[in-house]
Amino acid sequence: MNILLLGSGGREHALAWKLAQSPLCETLWAAPGNPGIAEVASCIDLDVTDHAAVIAFCETNVVGLVVIGPEAPLVDGLGDSLRAEGFSVFGPNRQPAQLEGSKGFTKDLCERAGIPTAGYERVSSEAAAMAALARFGAPVVIKADGLAAGKGVTVAMTMDEAEDAVREIFSGRFGDAGAEAVIEEFMEGEEASFFALTDGSTIVPFASAQDHKRVGDGDTGPNTGGMGAYSPAPVLTPALEAEVLERIIAPTVRTLENEGIPYSGVLFLGVMLTAQGPKLIEYNCRFGDPECQVMMMRLESDLVELLHACADNRLAAIQPPRFSPDTALTVVMAADGYPGTPAKGGAIHGIDKADALGAKVFHAGTALKDGALVASGGRVLNVTARGASVTQAQAGAYAAVDAIDFPTGFCRRDIGWREVAREKA
Ligand code: ATP
Repeated sequence: MNILLLGSGGREHALAWKLAQSPLCETLWAAPGNPGIAEVASCIDLDVTDHAAVIAFCETNVVGLVVIGPEAPLVDGLGDSLRAEGFSVFGPNRQPAQLEGSKGFTKDLCERAGIPTAGYERVSSEAAAMAALARFGAPVVIKADGLAAGKGVTVAMTMDEAEDAVREIFSGRFGDAGAEAVIEEFMEGEEASFFALTDGSTIVPFASAQDHKRVGDGDTGPNTGGMGAYSPAPVLTPALEAEVLERIIAPTVRTLENEGIPYSGVLFLGVMLTAQGPKLIEYNCRFGDPECQVMMMRLESDLVELLHACADNRLAAIQPPRFSPDTALTVVMAADGYPGTPAKGGAIHGIDKADALGAKVFHAGTALKDGALVASGGRVLNVTARGASVTQAQAGAYAAVDAIDFPTGFCRRDIGWREVAREKA
């Protein structure tokens, strides 16, 4: 089967690496891809906002499966356009992708379906938001409704911070994404991520993970797209996973199915493990980045078979995914300046040395300049290793990081710290 993968990050490198291993995969194209992806796929230029161009490419090249990596084309309805032409697509249509595209949509769905989550109010003006803040009191959480690349959420410990966040959202800084906001009750607990595949009716649990959003060691400094992750997340015990499936994922999938907008693809949940049990923080409609990298390192099943069955509503007919019991841990190497303006063009050497240590280095923001590998984005490399415990996987990943020569880059030195501390205890 010919496959088209859309995206250019570390997530897509991990997907490409795993897709290319499948005997079902004939030609793998990636648009736009990156130098790491180019080792296993043919990278092409394709404007994903031009749906007709993507369709024309798929027709010419007899593409049997389109895998959409990032959220923006999903929320933009690329899945709908491709499905209307009869193509198999991994990733939800525009309306169910509102689970990620609109926080208000998700909160309303939780209310209709009785899904445990933080109490909330949807507001569409600064005055209404301020009135809601007065009712909630601090601490409180303020979220721009739409996609804001991780920058639209403020966890406010004081009313002053909360009011500043409201003013920022309604200042127009987030464009359409900030036309509405959600004011939410503050939840206390440890966060974890859980992933499930669904074709709209069958639900297949995938894997758990935990990431590290803050740029600095000890979870300090500004938020980022993610500085590292590991899978599985032992904090999400089998009993808690069962609860998440039954109380959060199943009612979500059923409600969307009953309302005529079935969700097909991967559901990525952020959950807060509160004293009252797991509660939904948010949904994303694609694999996480860098969570995808650690899950792909553990996946033993054929990814093409899984994603194709998901796209064609055949999940009930295939074997559920199998994973290595090992932990996989990834460390993000970022360019100096990230998450502000990253230094571009810095030289990178030694990936072969990291590979020789048994790690897998996924490319995110890299480019080739005169044949040499350089940094071209904020998050540059995802150095990923497996081990029998988080402690061992962490040791493997940092040994590989230390083999890489990237003088204009940095990384956190404590990815996995919570679990490493628990393993020591
Ligand atoms: P964006 O939409 O800007 O991309 P996001 O989708 O990452 O942001 P969320 O995951 O909803 O936004 O929130 C970001 C972080 O804020 C969460 O990972 C969590 O740490 C914290 N957070 C969100 N909601 C709550 C809540 N109700 N209580 C406590 N913390 C919260």
